[in-house]
Amino acid sequence: MERFTLAQAAAWTHGEARGEAALTAVTTDSRQIPPEALFLPIKGERFDAHDFIGKAIENGAAAVMSHRENEEYPVPALYVENTSQALLDLAGGYRTMCGGKVVGVTGSVGKTTTKELLYAVLSQGFRAQKTEGNLNNEIGLPLTLMRMTRDTEVLVAEMGMNHFGELSRMTAAAKPNLAVITNIGTSHIEFLGSREGICKAKLEILEGLQEGGAAVLCGDEPLLWDKRESLGCKVVTYGIENSACDLTADLHSDGTFDIVNNGLAAAYLTVGEKFTAKLSIPGKHNVLNALAAAAVGLLLGETPELIAQGLVSYQASGMRQNIYEQDGYHIYADCYNASPDAMEATLSVLGGMAGDGRRFAVLGSMLELGDYAEEGHRRAGRAAAQYADALYAYGPDAAAMVAGAREKGMEHAYAFDDQTALVAALREDAKKGDALLFKGSRGMRMERALAMFLGEE
Ligand code: ATP
Ligand code: MG
Repeated sequence: MERFTLAQAAAWTHGEARGEAALTAVTTDSRQIPPEALFLPIKGERFDAHDFIGKAIENGAAAVMSHRENEEYPVPALYVENTSQALLDLAGGYRTMCGGKVVGVTGSVGKTTTKELLYAVLSQGFRAQKTEGNLNNEIGLPLTLMRMTRDTEVLVAEMGMNHFGELSRMTAAAKPNLAVITNIGTSHIEFLGSREGICKAKLEILEGLQEGGAAVLCGDEPLLWDKRESLGCKVVTYGIENSACDLTADLHSDGTFDIVNNGLAAAYLTVGEKFTAKLSIPGKHNVLNALAAAAVGLLLGETPELIAQGLVSYQASGMRQNIYEQDGYHIYADCYNASPDAMEATLSVLGGMAGDGRRFAVLGSMLELGDYAEEGHRRAGRAAAQYADALYAYGPDAAAMVAGAREKGMEHAYAFDDQTALVAALREDAKKGDALLFKGSRGMRMERALAMFLGEE
């Protein structure tokens, strides 16, 4: 982080500074105070971190922020109305001071994957930074912005949301030069009403777009495609199904694909030209994510060679979209998160695996679907029936998944409320040469079922 002063912070946050300090860190954790740090207490649902200001000072905070205007502190302090908003404002001011470009990434699914692909592509040609992990909310985003330095040429920032207004606030801080919307799904439909509502909420990201910036939208999504001319900014579209998009892909049977420029103004790929690319992660949905990354690379002036090099360099690892062979089984581990849209995308990948073997969908519940839980799980069950030979469902909504599978005529569909029982049955059923997808919400810990299945636990 670059050095800034408490006076600058006061200007950015419309707060009142009492005292002055030079700062090179901002932290929300009173237990971990780096040197020259501003402690920024966030009021959560259960705790108000203002209660830990004393602790933060004991631990060496150089300055503190506070909404308690009547309290005095033994270190310089910045008084604001609302520290959560002030965190965003602080990050927004800091981001402008650093001056690099920001690429914002939102969408119902595919944000992290697209962010990683974008980073892989952009770091070939630029001094690039990215959101660490999944720190994509109103706290993670500003902390990410404040990791920029004056040297950062481009930051790829993941921006997630559950409610209207969240992206508005985040984009006001991030001020993206380019804003990617990967898709419109059904995640958080309980708060947003409808897919149209979800679309509207995602488009909030454009409110903070910089002068001369552009929206990069998935044109395979009709809700986005139909709005492309009414957004009041430059729009670049990408898609596989929709051949009218600016950037499209021709998929080949060997897993490579051609990225075709139909209408994007770029220095190194004129309209009508194409180049070949490859990914080390599976599925058509990831080709879409790669197109988003390629569009941004081209818009920022990268060559097709660097873009292709970046795309293939991204390797999935651990429990995310990871396909490998072990003990003769084809394993597809994707236990990091789940939503109905992601379930369908990953199940379609399973559908293409295993050759002559059978395909097993080992699916944990998708948490946080609210009122949509029953239908969301039925949908996943129907997709399992379409792409797999057997469904092993686990968790609170396992029965709904099985019901969906049965609707589509799948016989081998079983519900379990215990992972050990599921794995015991699966070990009886699956043979070497078969393919098994393990997927579910993070909280379902499907990686444990996988480890048990492989005899690792
Ligand atoms: P979160 O909201 O948890 O941050 P995310 O938007 O970052 O999720 P990823 O972590 O990239 O999404 O991917 C989640 C799941 O969605 C993965 O299982 C992946 O297979 C699937 N997925 C990724 N990209 C797409 C896409 N473009 N369309 C549909 N499914 C996708
Ligand atoms: Mg994510």
